Amino acid sequence: MYNINMSLKKITDKLSYVVFNSKLNKGIRLVDTMPRIVEHDSIGLDSAVVQAARVSYGKGTKKVNDDKNLISYLMQHKHTTPFEMVEFKFHVKAPIFIARQWMRHRTGTFNEISGRYSELKSEWYIPDVVREQSVHNKQGSGMPIISSYWEEYMDGCAIQNDCYNNLIKEGVSKEISRIGLPQNMYTEFYWKVNLHNLLHFLKLRSHPSAQLEIREYADEIKNIIQPLCPTTVAAFDEHVTNSITLSGSEVDAIRKMEIFKGTARQVEEYKNKLDILRL
Ligand SMILES: Cc1cc2nc3c(=O)[nH]c(=O)nc-3n(C[C@H](O)[C@H](O)[C@H](O)COP(=O)(O)OP(=O)(O)OC[C@H]3O[C@@H](n4cnc5c(N)ncnc54)[C@H](O)[C@@H]3O)c2cc1C
Repeated sequence: MYNINMSLKKITDKLSYVVFNSKLNKGIRLVDTMPRIVEHDSIGLDSAVVQAARVSYGKGTKKVNDDKNLISYLMQHKHTTPFEMVEFKFHVKAPIFIARQWMRHRTGTFNEISGRYSELKSEWYIPDVVREQSVHNKQGSGMPIISSYWEEYMDGCAIQNDCYNNLIKEGVSKEISRIGLPQNMYTEFYWKVNLHNLLHFLKLRSHPSAQLEIREYADEIKNIIQPLCPTTVAAFDEHVTNSITLSGSEVDAIRKMEIFKGTARQVEEYKNKLDILRL
């Protein structure tokens, strides 16, 4: 299963892989990877992780299962640098409010389209449904809600956009014309990131506490990299996505079978963990 014969052609095919969800009008394109050339008997980009981890031991054993166990061990024990040996470059088209969240991830390298240099396209994101404020999470949203102001609000995007185009026609500079445009306008950027930091991004941005829209991007990114480094993604799911972390007080409460004391949020999170553990 893991002995994928990744020829250069297959990798090149993957590089031109374009994800475009017309419903959301969002886009992520994998532009490049490092390393590019993968050895004939390798396990895809996973091999670069294994190669880096094994540098101190020489070739050692080369069985596929050993590689799988090694990657799992590295992930579990946070031996992270071998994962930095693999890099990806993506072309992303996303609403500005998503790009703002994305670019908080300082360990990637970004280049974004310049609204001072280029005229911005008349494209903006409108969600399929309006979501109500979450009662559990002050930052989150919940079920769909009917809003009497929503249509007017979104019409405002078209009005601001028309004003922008008129200002440009009038000769106003692009850098000043753009300042009244809404946060749901699309922007485009290149994102270069190594596998370790990409997984950190997925951990935070695929999490239910992240905004739905960025979660969808994070999930697409995972779909793109999964066939290129399947062993690493499986280890990530095993030791990060599907794992839970218990605090000292939580361990104490479980061990002593006592009621856990904490803030309302801490108690809620503790209960969720007990549900997962079926305790
Ligand atoms: C659900 C959610 C809600 C959020 N809400 C807010 C909010 O309300 N307001 C807000 O401002 N931000 C918010 N953020 C952004 C958040 O605080 C982080 O800036 C963002 O998630 C990037 O995470 P990071 O720093 O771990 O990642 P990266 O910047 O990619 O850094 C990766 C890791 O490198 C290390 N690192 C990188 N740079 C430094 C440094 N200069 N010093 C020390 N260590 C460093 C850290 O260990 C860090 O975890 C939110 C994020 C999430 C996921």
